[in-house]
Amino acid sequence: MPRTNVDPTTLLARFGLSRFRPGQRDVVDAVDDGHDVMCVMPTGGGKSLCYQLPSLGRAGTTIVVSPLIALMKDQVDSMTTHGINAKLLNSSLSLSEQTSVMQEMAMGVLDLVYVAPERLRNSRFLEAVSTANVSLLAVDEAHCVSEWGHDFRPDYSRLGRFRDRYLSNVQTIALTATATPTVRQDIVDLLRLRNPKTFVTGFARTNLRFSVLHSKGDAEKNEQLLNYLKQRDGAGIIYAATRKRCEEIAVWLPEKTRRPVGVYHAGLDPSQRRKVQDDFMSGKLSAIVATNAFGMGIDKADIRYVVHYNMPGSLEAYYQEAGRAGRDGKDSECLLLFSYSDRYIQEFFIENRYPSREVVKKVYEFLLSRDEDPIELTLEQVRAAIDVKEGNEAIGTSQTLLAKAGVLKRLDNSANSAVVRIDSTAPTMLDFLPKEAKVRRRVMLAVEKVVGNQRGEDVFVTPKRLCEMADVDRDQLARTLRDLRRLKGFDYVPPFRGRAVHLIEHGIPFESLEIDFNELARRREAEHGKLEAVINFARANGCRQKVILDYFGDPQSKNCDRCDRCDPTGAKSTTVVHAKPTGDPFAGVDRDDFIRGVRVVLSGVTRMHGRFGKNLVAQMLCGSKSKKLQQWKLHRLSTYGMLSLLKQSEVVAVMDALIARGFLVQQEVDERRPTIHMSEPGNRVMHALDPLEDALDLKFPLIKRLAAAAKNIESGDVNEEARSSADDAGQESSQPATSQVGTAESLTEKSHAHNKAELAERLKRWRQKNAAALGIPAYRVLTNATLDRIADAAPQTTSELECISGVGPATIEQFGYDLVELILLTLNPDPSEDVIEADGGDQIDCEMAPLEKPEEKPEEEAEEEAEKKPVAETESQEQEGDDELDQDGSDPYWTWRLFRDGYTMSQIALIRRCSVGSLAIELKEAAEAGHPVDPKWFLR
Ligand code: ADP
Ligand code: MG
Repeated sequence: MPRTNVDPTTLLARFGLSRFRPGQRDVVDAVDDGHDVMCVMPTGGGKSLCYQLPSLGRAGTTIVVSPLIALMKDQVDSMTTHGINAKLLNSSLSLSEQTSVMQEMAMGVLDLVYVAPERLRNSRFLEAVSTANVSLLAVDEAHCVSEWGHDFRPDYSRLGRFRDRYLSNVQTIALTATATPTVRQDIVDLLRLRNPKTFVTGFARTNLRFSVLHSKGDAEKNEQLLNYLKQRDGAGIIYAATRKRCEEIAVWLPEKTRRPVGVYHAGLDPSQRRKVQDDFMSGKLSAIVATNAFGMGIDKADIRYVVHYNMPGSLEAYYQEAGRAGRDGKDSECLLLFSYSDRYIQEFFIENRYPSREVVKKVYEFLLSRDEDPIELTLEQVRAAIDVKEGNEAIGTSQTLLAKAGVLKRLDNSANSAVVRIDSTAPTMLDFLPKEAKVRRRVMLAVEKVVGNQRGEDVFVTPKRLCEMADVDRDQLARTLRDLRRLKGFDYVPPFRGRAVHLIEHGIPFESLEIDFNELARRREAEHGKLEAVINFARANGCRQKVILDYFGDPQSKNCDRCDRCDPTGAKSTTVVHAKPTGDPFAGVDRDDFIRGVRVVLSGVTRMHGRFGKNLVAQMLCGSKSKKLQQWKLHRLSTYGMLSLLKQSEVVAVMDALIARGFLVQQEVDERRPTIHMSEPGNRVMHALDPLEDALDLKFPLIKRLAAAAKNIESGDVNEEARSSADDAGQESSQPATSQVGTAESLTEKSHAHNKAELAERLKRWRQKNAAALGIPAYRVLTNATLDRIADAAPQTTSELECISGVGPATIEQFGYDLVELILLTLNPDPSEDVIEADGGDQIDCEMAPLEKPEEKPEEEAEEEAEKKPVAETESQEQEGDDELDQDGSDPYWTWRLFRDGYTMSQIALIRRCSVGSLAIELKEAAEAGHPVDPKWFLR
């Protein structure tokens, strides 16, 4: 394609624009140069211009494939007002209008023609397009080609072939806001782009202020949401992860905010959805609580805020949804309410999207075992029959995989039939109905026509046909038939509501089916990785915007200067309404005491060396007598009991505030155990190198109580803490008063070199303890040969460990982390570690000291953090023979909590990693322990 001679800047004026937005010019130049282009730009970034403008500078017509008729119409209208020759071609036009557009296209008078992908099935269009002079194909919302994107449209997958066959491989530009590498690759592959120039650009949204609030659970989130909304004006969207959560929020939110709030999710009727959407667009509703079903095609420019009540499954999704704020360029806000436990909802979704081989096999074999055809069983019925932990969606996905492998067909449920039956000798059933019951009479008449002379038999009929015959709508029909069923001699069985399955092939063994489970596993892993990125975003210390831009691979990422990290108080933002702009958070409180208290907390965290979660840190600082602390000798730490005037929950709240500010970080060690660590900024505050400017957003009573608790701590004590921690960092300082230096030194010397014999010795002791705890022989934990190999290789990560012969996946799962910990500790003992020092060099507890299990709760309020608890308790509790969890740490309690929190049976089974059957037993036990159980829970 020859480079156009028209200067793109002059063409801009034809769109009524004066300058390019960031990134647009580069894309336009690449298109003008004739390259295939992949343009990744956020929603609202101005993708359209990237193909519209080049189309004006060249001969021929640009075909634009776009999935939404409403969007096409807006674009075409706007171009028409600017005198650009653009038309759309879709079912909203009459046949003659369609014909005339195709003629104009063939004659070459149109610059751009917009079509929906479905149009590619229309042979008249294909004929017309192959004779036209098409010089560019623009595929808008190109992520729709990918099954792994969120808006997969099967017709998009024909596009590659369409271009080859009918457009003689014309130059193509694909545009999307989805930056997922998998989806991006799919676009390139499926559209058969040739050496495309890829641009990831314009993702920086300079008018958006991103912030994250950390919360423990829904109660806190509700409070945060309410406070937030009270300070916001204008329209907003609140995204939640599930329909149920949306419904719940939409119940209390309007009342508490005194604003009209609508709810939107895929479980509503299309007409309801349309109404809510229209009301939102027109400003009748001030906010919408929605699942991610709400959004595509929402072109409301003046959305002032987007709140995520639950984190989504990926940063792409987050940015896409949050990015719906401020499309008009005015300052707007994006808030994420982050609660660690929300990861389980997302993990559950992922597991359901990628069912295991075992589940697919079970579904297949179960369906093969059925005689009927078609098989009318709901996903739930299939799931119950094969008794798997996964949710119904996993059954649906399994069926889709089997359908793709060609062995079954999922039937359209509009074809499902109802059964009607008349067992009466009366000439007409109308005689039994009152004259004024017009609708009932119409429906009965229709039924009689359908039944004809087949009285006394089951007669099949689709509800659609009955609707037409009786001239009623679906709802009316269902209601009337239910009414009529009360008549003696008439019966009606509603149609199957799910999608029936027809088996095409019966003889193919599962193993021969073409399902690429390795690929599925790879994608599942990739999704888990994406979820991790969201968590890292929420916990990031640095600029929020930059974290996202770096994730997307935007080469021009830089700090935004306005997010909650760059500008914690929101001073630079016009959108932050300061409720009490000048109020002194320290009114009447000794600021130095408060800061000393904060430093004690930071110091306590440092002392625990990132091996425990915040609750155990709180127990330690509050001087709890828990056996757990004694077991790990944490009661000997010098910070033990320093804040005993506070409740553990209060210390946890201080830590949460520190986490929210990035002074502390939580880290996943394996998937389930968040441990708490010091960050560099936190370290500086602890050492009084950086001042603490404000009260960390803590509530006033807690500010006061923390200051009071720290009042009598000698500042020397804290300095000492700071000094001994400085030792950790290798800084110059005097000796920490609490350490038994001799022991520490000799340990350091002994262990710095890799001492195989010592490692082997420790491994043996570790093995012995574990074997005893598990009640199994030592060789079942590790054989001697494997143990020697581990001592020899001294692997320092679980993946290195995995490479050692004799270490299987089960070992990795059960012991991997502890083994690596033990090895690291042997190779690099930390001389300043209180646990070692205080214990006079006895390593046993250190070897065994695992990460804190998340079940550890502040004792007085085990409930609060319930939601992260259930998953973590699995085997480890039994393994370690832990008998000291309080009553509320028991299995039945947590099962009960999940039910109470609204999870379904199958979700809970998955979260708790047990069968549905054992849930019932646990619930019974919970009921016996006095927790109220609602029988309706079993129906979810
Ligand atoms: P996308 O397809 O990336 O979501 P659009 O192409 O629909 O975004 O553009 C979003 C809005 O930005 C439109 O109202 C458009 O007119 C406007 N826009 C695009 N480019 C520019 C520009 N260079 N200057 C000003 N406004 C622009
Ligand atoms: Mg667009």
